[in-house]
Amino acid sequence: MDVGPSVQETLALVYRLQTIDSELVHIIGEIEAARAHLKGKEDGLSELSLRIDAEKRELLGLSREKKDKEEELRTNEHIISENKKKNKELKHSREIQAYMAEMEFRRDEVERLQDEILRLMETIETLEGTQEKRAAEIATYREELETAKTDLLERQKEREGEIADLEREKASLMENFPETLLDQYKRLKVSHKNGLVVSRIQGETCGVCRMVLPPRTMTEVKKRQKIVPCLHCQRWLYLEGEIEKGEKRTV
Ligand SMILES: [Zn+2]
Repeated sequence: MDVGPSVQETLALVYRLQTIDSELVHIIGEIEAARAHLKGKEDGLSELSLRIDAEKRELLGLSREKKDKEEELRTNEHIISENKKKNKELKHSREIQAYMAEMEFRRDEVERLQDEILRLMETIETLEGTQEKRAAEIATYREELETAKTDLLERQKEREGEIADLEREKASLMENFPETLLDQYKRLKVSHKNGLVVSRIQGETCGVCRMVLPPRTMTEVKKRQKIVPCLHCQRWLYLEGEIEKGEKRTV
């Protein structure tokens, strides 16, 4: 592409625009990462709160169950002691048999209920221990969440001015851009990997693909008569240096 004698100036402009775009992407990415970190902490905290609530409900249910079993146990023990009183009044063998069967059933019930109450007490104790640990866990989480929040706010505040400056510079740069060149830049920015359109030459190496440029390409670039693309990665090669006579640096 022939852009006349001010090719160096044009490339300098495009290179600066590209640098601004990269910086903006970097800054925004940094803020996004801080936001994602905060979101992760928020999700973690609400998940933990839900778990704590579920465990509390479970604990409540177990305590109720224990109370019911204890009531049942008392009832059985009461029946046993009442039956014992009536024992002496029994005469017929059928009555005595029925009494024995009833007493055996009640004693089994008492044993079963005592076992169940014991098991419930163990489970309740374990859950209560977990609840204590959860309280410490959630306190840590809240602290981390606050840190993440402060971090995000600070980062945003810090970077706000930087973003505004870059955006302002970008807007004024784009005003000076020939429209066709801007269109081309935008198109290549999307199609090229990393959004890089211009490659700054380092020594005799392409700054983007790191391939050594052939002497013929270097000569072409140094003539500064047209935009020379890298043979390997197609980026516009930009050799940083003084602006040639007759050219004005606008950036
Ligand atoms: Zn290259």
